[in-house]
Amino acid sequence: MTFRDIDINLAAETKAMVEQVKRFSMEVMRPAGIELDKLPKPEEVIARDSILWDVFRGFRKLGLHTLEIPKNLGGLAEDMDPMAKVLISEQLGYADAGLAISMGVACMPFNYAARFPTPEMQQLARDFCQDKEGKMIGCWAITEPDHGTDWSLGGNNPKCGPSVKAVLNGDEYVVNGEKSAWVSNGTIATHALLHVGLDPARGMQGQGLAIIPLDLPGISRGKPLDKMGQRPLNQGAIIFEDVRIPKKYMVVSNPDIINAARGLGLAAVNGRMAVVFAGLGKAAFDEALRYAKERIQGGVPIFEHAVMKLKLMKMFTAVEAARANARRMAVFNLLNTFTPSVAHAVGAKCLSTETATTVAGEAIQIFGGFGLAKEFPVEKMFRDARTGMIEDGVNDALAIKAAEFL
Ligand SMILES: Cc1cc2nc3c(=O)[nH]c(=O)nc-3n(C[C@H](O)[C@H](O)[C@H](O)COP(=O)(O)OP(=O)(O)OC[C@H]3O[C@@H](n4cnc5c(N)ncnc54)[C@H](O)[C@@H]3O)c2cc1C
Repeated sequence: MTFRDIDINLAAETKAMVEQVKRFSMEVMRPAGIELDKLPKPEEVIARDSILWDVFRGFRKLGLHTLEIPKNLGGLAEDMDPMAKVLISEQLGYADAGLAISMGVACMPFNYAARFPTPEMQQLARDFCQDKEGKMIGCWAITEPDHGTDWSLGGNNPKCGPSVKAVLNGDEYVVNGEKSAWVSNGTIATHALLHVGLDPARGMQGQGLAIIPLDLPGISRGKPLDKMGQRPLNQGAIIFEDVRIPKKYMVVSNPDIINAARGLGLAAVNGRMAVVFAGLGKAAFDEALRYAKERIQGGVPIFEHAVMKLKLMKMFTAVEAARANARRMAVFNLLNTFTPSVAHAVGAKCLSTETATTVAGEAIQIFGGFGLAKEFPVEKMFRDARTGMIEDGVNDALAIKAAEFL
């Protein structure tokens, strides 16, 4: 047993699943992430022959897309120990944070669908569990070109409301507007968990939530976004022009319910991010430690220099604190789905992404010039980690919002 495993006390079956995920993540995801990161154009990441699809298929074959969906719909939710779910997410982040997020977001609309007892939503969740090929891919469409942090902070200013609006017309809603180029999986998603403005007079608080297929007439996509980090995570805008969606797809049509349940969404999204980026921090530390024991300067491995030992020990302590914090928060929140701790989840997201960024930056320093070279993994890890501090909400804005839950 290594220090990596000291707090694991799992049933043999779940331990075996975690081991399978370790193999898949290091043999398939890690190399795929490195290859996809190097592609000059984001269009190539989602090309038909892209290695991205091997990752989707491998993830689905292991059943990892069904971890949040109950057994009666074909999922594994009740079979999985909460700690096992956490270890799996951490391991996926350890292998490649961008792909871990892509795989996770791909499940979001279907995980939500499973919670709504209508026949359409239950069937959607069932179909998703059956999909081992990655044919059904979800996205979370919330950010808009003119409203990013506004979604994190909320508010009832009528001058600052969602630009994607849905207007009820008989048995349908008519949707117009644009979700921003930052929508993860926006280029490839078949379904969206879509936030819309229903009551403009209430600003960001006048929103509704829909789960929709993205092949409806009037929906188009922007071009894939070219960005610094998490390049294997493809992103792009989704544009709605007079899109008619059946009323039953608007799974929450009462803004008061969304406002009351605001904490649940914040806790779920940030909780997952916290665990994934704790994994990335550990990956950067492991690379730095390995290199420090190999690289000879002054006639000895650089690890033998006291200053290097001190640096590595500080990195180790920071990473273990972030991991322990993320695990504790995530297990608690998984066991308390309807009463999660929002402050712990957001605090852990901020701590994990900031720790991963600092530790990956220090890892570059330990590698010296090679730390900047594309042939070594730490410069990518740094870019991936830094991206996490803005992803799904700028850390400062999330923290200000989460303070309301203290
Ligand atoms: C890798 C990645 C993945 C993402 N995935 C998704 C996704 O799946 N779905 C989705 O919908 N979105 C996604 N996003 C978008 C993300 O949620 C937004 O980028 C984020 O909320 C910030 O919005 P913005 O980029 O428009 O910045 P802005 O809101 O324009 O903020 C710019 C700066 O101004 C500051 N600021 C803004 N408002 C205030 C204020 N009121 N007071 C003080 N300071 C303020 C911010 O802190 C920030 O520093 C993703 C982003 C990234 C980077």
